Amino acid sequence: MIEATTIHRDAIYDVIVIGGGHAGCEAAAASARFGAKTLLVTHRVETIGEMSCNPAIGGLGKGHLVREIDALDGLMGRVADAAGIQFRVLNRRKGPAVRGPRAQADRALYRCAMQAALSEIGCLDIAESSVEDLVISTSEARVEVKAVVLSDGQKVEAGAVVLTTGTFLRGLIHVGDESVRAGRVGEPPALGLADTLERLGFRRGRLKTGTPPRLCGSTIDYGSLQEQPGDDPPVPFSYLTNEIKTPQIVCHITGTTEASHALIRANLERSPMYSGQIEGVGPRYCPSIEDKVVRFEERNTHQIFLEPEGLDDDTVYPNGISTSLPQDVQLALLKTIPGLETAKMVRSGYAIEYDYVDPRELGPTLETEKVERLFLAGQINGTTGYEEAAAQGLMAGVNAAIRVVGGSAFTIDRAAGYVGVLIDDLITRGVDEPYRMFTSRAEYRLTLRADNADRRLTGLGMQRGLVGVERAKAFEAKSEALKLAREAIDSLSLTPSQARQHGITVNRDGSRRSAFDLLGGYGLTVTDLMRIWPQLGDVTADVAEQIECDAHYRGYLARQETDIRAFRRDEALSIPPEFDFLGVEGLSNEQREKLAAVRPATIGAAARVPGVTPAAVNLLLIHVRRSELSGHQLPKSA
Ligand code: FAD
Repeated sequence: MIEATTIHRDAIYDVIVIGGGHAGCEAAAASARFGAKTLLVTHRVETIGEMSCNPAIGGLGKGHLVREIDALDGLMGRVADAAGIQFRVLNRRKGPAVRGPRAQADRALYRCAMQAALSEIGCLDIAESSVEDLVISTSEARVEVKAVVLSDGQKVEAGAVVLTTGTFLRGLIHVGDESVRAGRVGEPPALGLADTLERLGFRRGRLKTGTPPRLCGSTIDYGSLQEQPGDDPPVPFSYLTNEIKTPQIVCHITGTTEASHALIRANLERSPMYSGQIEGVGPRYCPSIEDKVVRFEERNTHQIFLEPEGLDDDTVYPNGISTSLPQDVQLALLKTIPGLETAKMVRSGYAIEYDYVDPRELGPTLETEKVERLFLAGQINGTTGYEEAAAQGLMAGVNAAIRVVGGSAFTIDRAAGYVGVLIDDLITRGVDEPYRMFTSRAEYRLTLRADNADRRLTGLGMQRGLVGVERAKAFEAKSEALKLAREAIDSLSLTPSQARQHGITVNRDGSRRSAFDLLGGYGLTVTDLMRIWPQLGDVTADVAEQIECDAHYRGYLARQETDIRAFRRDEALSIPPEFDFLGVEGLSNEQREKLAAVRPATIGAAARVPGVTPAAVNLLLIHVRRSELSGHQLPKSA
């Protein structure tokens, strides 16, 4: 358990992070790792690292984010490895680019591991309080955050502030026709800060998310249900974890029935989603069970994964039946589901509505455009999910620290990581429903694989002083092993007749096949090569995986590299921060307004603003070039 700090009256911090959720933990850790004196303020220290909804980390797209957080020496991967009780690589049969590592976690172990990880970080204080307001200084030239105001009225000064309040801003929980103000079940909402953001003029909206009822595991009849085992051996998230030591469990699968659907249809008007009581927009891809029944009328069952919440915890999370139907309907619903007929409900499901800030108010470092040195990260920016929150937290935390300590901004572009895709999507496109990561959101999927996140990002992190000694050493050792193994493989080859002697069928065309060719085109693995050429020695599994992926995607990766170079050319064409988008003649009013609202920092980002056509981008480019040549900031015509 972490000891809460008592904040001295005249304490001054480089960075204050508000919120102890997934975004807050990564933000505080990244800021402190960067050397900034950091304070994490959260409602309750004991809920630091709490998983508000399902006890699982990773999955498709999300698993890529966890690996990237880990590659930058963030906490989530290592914590999930310490707490994971079932690991599965999703899409294992598909190509490496779309495989998603996922782990179901022991909720209590996860919280403990996160708190232990934070307590090991120097330069980091943790305080228990509610932040009610921000102190903003307004001079002629700039509006800046200077301090936070705690619930007892104490002001604490900071060089930068990172706000990660999740679902707490004006949070409102719904179960049937009952609604109660809360940030999460049993926790108060953040009202003061919601007023502050309103006063500061941030564009805001309302979103909603939901959670299923929790069940008492010992009352579930698992006898007839399908078992779902994890991978054996389990594959860790972190590049620093050699082995998963936590005992592994089996999950079970059941599903709704026609009787469940009839019950839901008969009670739809009692769901706050359908009665009009909920105004916020929910996630289309992660719908409540009432939504699924209405939207997918033709289906006679929806799968439910029964996921134990912990090794010493009898609570079971029925993944797939998130709902805000009244409690009596939830109880009746359980009786219609095989295996759950006599299951006891420990807590009912609920929906929660909350305020979010339009992420187009933010720049690429997640600093707000309106208030300097104020950064926003996590669900407050319209995302949903622990991984999306953590990835933003890391980037906001390090950039807040850089803002105070000095240095150039640390950003990752869309071609280098899903973290870049996430932030760019948020700040250029905004959100109209809770945003979650999918592999389909990335243009350069073959390059942005979960397996090579360290090759893409650890070096970058090392250059910027973000990566600790242990990881840097491990990364350098792996890079060297990869280089040597690749050189050795490239130096070996077989003639067609030699290949046939080893049982490899190749055309008798007289040309030698390199060992690398044999990996790519003939379905061989590095282990097969080691059998043919024992001098290759012992290539470790992680190095072998990288070489196999490189061989498998060889032609495609070369083509993608060309696309990435073109993308980076546009990204390098920066638009001056003071550029007058409204003054660009030739653009439609709608295009001007959209660009002025988003204020893209580069021509590439401008091209991704919805509604901005290639012709508009060309026009914009001419204006930007002219403004640079003439030294004038506000060109009126091309
Ligand atoms: P949170 O984890 O919400 O943390 C916010 C933190 O800020 C808390 O520690 C809180 O105490 C603190 N805080 C708030 N206000 C203040 C203040 N004024 N002063 C001090 N501290 C403050 N994600 C999915 O991917 N799938 C789902 O199905 C899903 N369902 C969900 C269902 C529910 C009911 C909820 C609540 C969340 C759900 N989520 C789901 C979302 C997931 O939990 C969040 O996306 C993730 O936890 C967001 O992380 P965060 O760090 O932004 O905020």
